[in-house]
Amino acid sequence: MHHSIPLLDLKRQYKTIAAEVNAAVLAVLASGQYIGGPTVEEFERQFANYTATRECVACHSGTDALYLALRSLNIGPGDQVITSPFTFIATAEAISLVSATPVFVDITAQTFNLDLDQLAGAITEKTRAIIPVHLFGQPVDMTRLMAIAQANHLAVIEDCAQAVGADWAGQKVGSFGNIGCFSFYPTKNLGGCGDGGAVTTNDSAIAARIRMLRDHGRRGAYFHEAVGVNSRLDALQAAVLQVKLRHSDAWNAQRRAVAHRYHQLLSRIQGVILPQELAGSQSAWNQFTLRILSPSQPSQPGNYRDQIRAGLQCQGISSTVYYPLPLHLQPVYEPLGYQSGQFPVAERATQEVLSLPMFPELLPEEQEQVMHSLKDCLI
Ligand SMILES: *Cc1c(COP(=O)(O)O)cnc(C)c1O
Repeated sequence: MHHSIPLLDLKRQYKTIAAEVNAAVLAVLASGQYIGGPTVEEFERQFANYTATRECVACHSGTDALYLALRSLNIGPGDQVITSPFTFIATAEAISLVSATPVFVDITAQTFNLDLDQLAGAITEKTRAIIPVHLFGQPVDMTRLMAIAQANHLAVIEDCAQAVGADWAGQKVGSFGNIGCFSFYPTKNLGGCGDGGAVTTNDSAIAARIRMLRDHGRRGAYFHEAVGVNSRLDALQAAVLQVKLRHSDAWNAQRRAVAHRYHQLLSRIQGVILPQELAGSQSAWNQFTLRILSPSQPSQPGNYRDQIRAGLQCQGISSTVYYPLPLHLQPVYEPLGYQSGQFPVAERATQEVLSLPMFPELLPEEQEQVMHSLKDCLI
């Protein structure tokens, strides 16, 4: 019997940990301590430990983590920050929110991540930092990126929003750059029951500055030394995240198994290119994103990938497009003056990518159903 297959099913995961989550949430409700306090502090210690960094500062979202990271490095007007045009808007948005200028560099077709061969060419005397994005869970080559950054005296802020638990050269992402930024939005690998985020760093001065900025720029009760924001993590979210962090490695292993099964099921299908892990890395597999190549003689006008997606939907298979428009061509960034054709690899990716159902509890028989539907839809 065929049933519809969602992109992600958070209810299935909740069922497996309901008793633990409920107990943790009820304990917070009974404690009367709802903002900050021991539950949040304990989660910060656990997450620093998980990422093998000295400090973790929790905040309201991944977007805030990026914003606070940039603020803590005093990046602002007149500064340039290099990042990928093929990411969620928040990466570039944070740069704009501190009144610095995002500078985009094209991606590689293999990883969907920044093309490190093109990085040096984008550095100017105004460049202050690089924000590599470990997109879909696949780490950037951090050995090489850090060498380029250090040679040019640039800060590195890792956007780890989609890559909790991923590692490069045996080391967790978020521990390479000056600062790692994480999101606990429900669809991320470690997701709360609401918004949440965190920064990780080995620099205690940066951690102290971010603690100050996330809480109205205060040091002490009512003494304010900078214009800060209200970006604290709720104790309820910290309680849920503590429970889920304990399962994180097991869930990531299940995601790897799902990715492995997709490879077995789909590798012989013509016209699709499957995502590959870079040697030396372990992806967190937040998404399983393949490319759908257009046939040389299309039977219908329009985007072929969109037709496949619609076909899958008719058969009850959810899929989605991360991302349909690269950041340099977004209306919001029109004033930056980028042109269509400037980042051909990213632009082509926006036409070809399709993310399939991916979550730890996805069943082998469901993956087979995805495979059969995809075969049916492709000409
Ligand atoms: C989700 C995401 C963010 C933002 O995280 P929020 O918690 O939703 O603010 C930033 N960058 C990337 C790459 C993301 O996927």
